[in-house]
Formats: sequence, structure tokens, C-alpha cells
Amino acid sequence: MKKHFETEAIRTQMERSQFAEHSAPLYLTSSFVFEDAEELRAAFADEVDKNIYSRFSNPNTQELTEKICVLEGAEDGVAFSSGMAAVYTSFAALLNSGDHIVSVRSIFGSTHTLFQKYFPKWNIETSYFGADTPKEVEQVIQPNTKIIYIETPTNPGLDILDMEYLSAVAKKNNALLVVDNCFATPYLQQPIAYGADLVIHSATKLIDGQGRVLGGLIVGRKDLISEIRSFFRNSGSALSPFNAWVLSKSLETLAVRLDRHCENALQIAKHLEKQTKISKVKYPFLPNHPQYKIAIKQMLKGGNIITFELKGGIEAGQTFLNKIKMCSLSANLGDTRTIATHPATSTHSKLSNEERAAVGITDGLIRLSIGLENIQDIIEDIDQALEKV
Ligand SMILES: *Cc1c(COP(=O)(O)O)cnc(C)c1O
Repeated sequence: MKKHFETEAIRTQMERSQFAEHSAPLYLTSSFVFEDAEELRAAFADEVDKNIYSRFSNPNTQELTEKICVLEGAEDGVAFSSGMAAVYTSFAALLNSGDHIVSVRSIFGSTHTLFQKYFPKWNIETSYFGADTPKEVEQVIQPNTKIIYIETPTNPGLDILDMEYLSAVAKKNNALLVVDNCFATPYLQQPIAYGADLVIHSATKLIDGQGRVLGGLIVGRKDLISEIRSFFRNSGSALSPFNAWVLSKSLETLAVRLDRHCENALQIAKHLEKQTKISKVKYPFLPNHPQYKIAIKQMLKGGNIITFELKGGIEAGQTFLNKIKMCSLSANLGDTRTIATHPATSTHSKLSNEERAAVGITDGLIRLSIGLENIQDIIEDIDQALEKV
């Protein structure tokens, strides 16, 4: 019987070895041995569930994948060397020349670059719809649309998309709904329960949660994962067993970490709303968020990302970043350490000015990834920097 989230995140574990270790060991081995010729044949024929070579599978990557499948309610999954390897491989495995993607406009910068610069080389075009005008999806969908792709919350727009609605549109049009669940993690939201066919993670972010390793996952329908796994095995974006071991341990504390991340973020968002130098604060669980109703329907809590707009524009934004003392200036997110970034000049700098404007990335937009330091210290650092803006 399926246990509660925290219990599954801790107790989903590979079988113990002859040493009866309590915590799962790390298997640093590139290949595995066989008893005899028959076992070797059966393993390559996929007749037995046995590890062959660590580019295909390894006990540590299997444990991590199984755990995410349990937490997301997915049938099957694959672990990758990074979140982008998961994104790229899923499209490359599932799409053919002439297929079409419909994507929300506000998405992670590298995913946007894949859609704009590389997929057209293979005759795969992408059309976009606005997160604040989701009904547009029904206008841009075409008979050759194979995938509707979304992030929710979006990075860095923090918009929330209604997964129930979009999965119904996907089904009606014979397309797949693929959700990048990086900002929410399976603890805050499980897209498969709302009809998603595949769920993608950058495990680098909140799943690791401590800014140490890269990793990615894709989980979902068995038939689709089988296609993806075959492409993955032959194209070489395997996750290192060490990173898988780290990420599986990290999941043991995901729920408690996120409870604190979200509690800190909500309090800080409310604090920022009261500051006179800030014109706009966006956080999914603030009632003035444009999609607040959808956020509280499909998310357990609001996550750890806040964006805000300084009245002084680009100059104020840069002064703010320069005056921050404790919080880090970094492109990562979902770390124990609070991070401030300026999307216009970092993660989304490859987009043109028009593209940035279309997804709401203004020059003065600051993105905060709220960490696990004591909330008083985070607020103190933000306040002293705001004073100098
Ligand atoms: C970071 C990120 C990715 C890419 O993950 P990597 O592990 O850095 O390759 C994809 N989607 C979202 C929403 C992200 O924030």
C-alpha cells in the first residue's frame, strides 16, 4: 500500500546488500557481470531486470527514478545528467520531422533556445501562448501538434497554468501534455493527477536543494518512457551514480525543507509588499497573484521563488544586487542559501528585448530564491539593500 509522501521519500530504497547497510550504498561501477552466457543473452534481450552497463542503468539511478515515480504517481521514468538533458531527450525521442510543439511563452531560457534555434533545423516548429491568456492555446494548436509544453509555476514569470484545462485540450487534440515541475517538486504538486502525460524535473534545483549536483528526470506513461529510454540509452545522457545517490538522499528531506522554504517565502513576500520602493511583488500564494485560484487548487504551498519589481528600474535593480551582503548573486535556485538574480542579464539574456517583454521580464525584475537561513537574517539583508536603492 502507498504510504504518505514523507515516508515514501525515505523508505523507497534499493534492496540491501550482504552487508545489511541501513542507508543505501553508492555503486561506482561502469558495468555488471553475468553468471553465464544465458544470463548475458537474457539481459540484452530485456527478458530479465538486470543492470548491464551504467549508461543504461545503475542501482543508484534506479533507486532515484523509482522514488520520483512513487512520489509523482508515475508508471515509469528515466534519470538524466541534467534537467536540460531530460528536456532535450524527451523531445528528440518523441518527435519526428514535421511535428509541432505548443508551448507557454514564459519558459526556462535554455528550453526556449532549443525551441527557437535548434528544433527548426529538424523541421520541428513551436508556437506559443501567453500564461495570462491560456485560451490562446486552442488557437495556436495545429493538426500536427504532438506536445503541449508548460512549466507551472513558470520560470521566472511565476505564472500558474491550469493543468486540468490544458490536459483536456491536449486529449481533445490528440497531443501530449508535458509539464516541467521543477519549481513545485512532487511535494507541492503532482501533474499526473491533473492529466499530464509526462513530468520533467531539473533535480539540480529543489530536489538536490543544496546546490551540489546536476540531475534531471522524466517520468510518466510507460509507453512514452519506453521510447524515451531507448533514445536515452543510445545517446548517452546518463546521470552519474554519485549524483543519483546524492539526489536520492536529498529526497529524504524534501518535505521538511520545502515546508520551511515555503513558510519563509510567504512571509518575505508579504514583507516586500509593504515596501515603498517596490512596485510589484509576485508569489503564487499571495491573493493578488493573477492565477491565485488555480495555484491554491493544484499546489500544496506557494514554493520558494518570489519576483519583485523595483520602482527605479534597471539602475535600482543593479544597486539592489550590489548592496546585498548575505544573500548570493547566482544563477541557481532552490538552494539552502537565499539567492538573488536579475533574469534580464543572466538566465534570460539570450532572449531578445521583445521576447523578454512578452514574458514579463522587465529590466528591474529581481528573482529571489528563498533559502533556509533564519528568516530574520534574510529580511534584514533585503531591507538594508532596499534602503540604499
Ligand atoms: C534549471 C531549470 C531547467 C534546466 O535544468 P538543468 O539541471 O540546469 O539542466 C529546466 N527547467 C527549469 C524550470 C529550470 O529552472
